[in-house]
Amino acid sequence: MDKKEAPKSALDALVSLCKRRGFIFQSSEVYGGFAGFWDYGPLGCELKRNIKERWWRFMVRDREDVEGLDASIIMHPAIWKASGHLDTFSDPMSMCKGNCRKLMRADQIWEIFEDSPIKAALEPLVGDAGAVANWCKGKGKNVAPGLYTVQHPERLEAIFETLKTVPDVRALFILLATPAGEPEALPCPNCGGVMTEPRPFNLMFKTVVGPIDDPSNVAYLRPETAQAIFAEFPNVMVSSRQAPPFGIGQIGKSFRNEVTPRNYIFRSREFEQMELEFFIKPDEAVELLCGRVEPLTDDTDLSEPKPEWGWACWHKYWVEQRKQWLVANGLPKDSFVEYWQKPDELAHYARACVDIEYRFPFGTQELEGIAARSDFDLSRHQEHSGKSMEVFDEPLKLAVKKLSDDEKAAFRAKVVAEWQGRGKTAEAANAFIDRLFEGKYIPHVIEPSAGVDRMALALLCDAYEEQRLVDEKGKEDVRTVLHLAPAIAPVKVAVFPLVKNRPELRNLARDIFKRLQKRWNCFWDETGAIGRRYRRQDEIGTPFCVTVDFDTLEKDGTVTLRDRDSMTQERISVDDLIAKVDAAVNG
Ligand code: ATP
Repeated sequence: MDKKEAPKSALDALVSLCKRRGFIFQSSEVYGGFAGFWDYGPLGCELKRNIKERWWRFMVRDREDVEGLDASIIMHPAIWKASGHLDTFSDPMSMCKGNCRKLMRADQIWEIFEDSPIKAALEPLVGDAGAVANWCKGKGKNVAPGLYTVQHPERLEAIFETLKTVPDVRALFILLATPAGEPEALPCPNCGGVMTEPRPFNLMFKTVVGPIDDPSNVAYLRPETAQAIFAEFPNVMVSSRQAPPFGIGQIGKSFRNEVTPRNYIFRSREFEQMELEFFIKPDEAVELLCGRVEPLTDDTDLSEPKPEWGWACWHKYWVEQRKQWLVANGLPKDSFVEYWQKPDELAHYARACVDIEYRFPFGTQELEGIAARSDFDLSRHQEHSGKSMEVFDEPLKLAVKKLSDDEKAAFRAKVVAEWQGRGKTAEAANAFIDRLFEGKYIPHVIEPSAGVDRMALALLCDAYEEQRLVDEKGKEDVRTVLHLAPAIAPVKVAVFPLVKNRPELRNLARDIFKRLQKRWNCFWDETGAIGRRYRRQDEIGTPFCVTVDFDTLEKDGTVTLRDRDSMTQERISVDDLIAKVDAAVNG
């Protein structure tokens, strides 16, 4: 299977495997399911745990310049006012005015159309006016009962000539949906009816805190983990004795009342995020401290942070770090792309934003994002809470002290001009410089933000393979295998006694199993032929299988270690086995 163009059916096969083997279940399935919510079964929760663990280790624990946080999900509602979520965290929503009354995200209507039976039915008819007319009077009544021309076939006469020249299936669908004399309709991909004008719909889940159900007690389930990091920035900085550049990482649940949750666990209403807010000095402070800000070029060495780095180098550094993490955890370099948002796509406060997009079977879509968010978030919280989010930088104050009045004036003039070039006022620039000259500033932030569930989906999609095998006798067979990186795989080692009815062999195998189980999540399987047991493990991505046989018992204590990907087997002592698995799991 070409992973770059994994067909949609590959996702169907994966979804079925995930349910059958206990990775992912639909939430509340016994009650018919609950759209946008998922439950992770025995293997799924191990998989997610491994992803989070790897992220935490790489982004937080292995670094001296990042601290961790585990904040509450429900926070003071003023946080969401300050962050802008209350006023602007919305998606454009449309409702079908036709038969089905479905609500959909207006910006996803054409994406939904791509997979719809209406598109499948209309596509072969493009340009064939007679066939379209027949369809509207016949099968169209079932496929698109809300479509205007299906309900009013008398309209066919007026549009018959135009039907011959429509360029594509979308144009055909719009033409059939639009009543005479009216502006072009936005048709419903479900029934063909007309959608309402898009209206903003806030994505935050509301709840009530305390016993009285009153608007004054309304609070929100967090739609991202980031805001708690901003709100706790002063506490974490002081208690951990950090100073910019340093970061705060957090992993936790987020909730968004997505209008159209879709594509399996890609877009759900409850999901987990892994977010780092990395606080840096403003470029102007770097310049005063180091005499220069390192320009970002294709040749900039981004392997180790440097004091001269401004936001551009820090941002690119984190993009590179995140790509390194993805590759180390099993996503090949060519399975994802970097999308650098264009200036007109950026939020007004953002300096740059890169989406790392994975080639999912349903299209190339955002896996995670790395944004340079300026000092926007901390400034907003300072403004709304009245509490200072500034840091005092003693070396900066000393550096400024060494400047002559002329040097200070020249610096001020340069910064004011730069700020004005970015559309800011001289007054704001001067206020900022006054604080800077006292050694004070609000840090800027670089935000690498990833979704655990999307990561799990990308890793599963990439790992899934249906391998055609031919045995020595020429017999063909299909092996389903998840090539998950050993660090990510839910089960690291499966242990099999060759036979189960020989107590001394079984006991020895149990001892080995117990020993391995102390280190990793292991699986015990004593039923069926060894070949069948291997296949069951291949399907869930277990990288190593260990068989304990009579040689183990009677000769040298070695076991057979079978490798999932190469399917090769070797005899190995239990100590060497432990070293080998350890190296693979921690690699
Ligand atoms: P999208 O454009 O796909 O809605 P976003 O740009 O709003 O995503 P962010 O707010 O930047 O996403 O969230 C950071 C990460 O959180 C995303 O890259 C994604 O991995 C994850 N994420 C966001 N929304 C969802 C969701 N509804 N379901 C699952 N994961 C999500």
